[in-house]
Formats: sequence, structure tokens, C-alpha cells
Amino acid sequence: MLKCKDLVALSSDLLDGELTLKQRIAVRMHLAMCVHCRRFIRQLRVSQRVIRQLPDQQAPELDTLLRAMQAQQQRASEPDQSDSSK
Ligand SMILES: [Zn+2]
Repeated sequence: MLKCKDLVALSSDLLDGELTLKQRIAVRMHLAMCVHCRRFIRQLRVSQRVIRQLPDQQAPELDTLLRAMQAQQQRASEPDQSDSSK
């Protein structure tokens, strides 16, 4: 069974879609049980999206990144948008 530590180790491959089927299943099972990792993955997705939106792939200032992430999260936590897009 996957541990939180293992999931963190797999997380970047997960977001890049580079996991094997077996790994994906293990990750999903873990996410189904573990709210911490669900939150972690969601956070990671948000930050990945934010980073992609930045021009030139420069490493952003941490400050800028955090602020952008907070803005994204606020938008994501508004009840209407998260469900209707599915
Ligand atoms: Zn976990």
C-alpha cells in the first residue's frame, strides 16, 4: 500500500501523466483514503497551472507565486465553478 511519502515522490510524474497503470491505481486508492494527499495534489495542480501561465518559464519570485496561487484557490473554492465544469 502506498504511503504519503510515496505519493509525494510520485506526484510530479502523476501531474505529467507519466505513471504506469499500476502506479496510477495505487495513487488513486491512496487519494481516496487520504485527505491530506488529496489536498496536496490539488495544491500541486494549482501551482503547476500558475507556473505555466507565467511568461518565459522563468523561475518566479516566491512571493509572486504564492499570491497567484492564493488568487487561484479563492476562485477554485467558489462553489459554483468547481462543480459545473465537470
Ligand atoms: Zn496520504
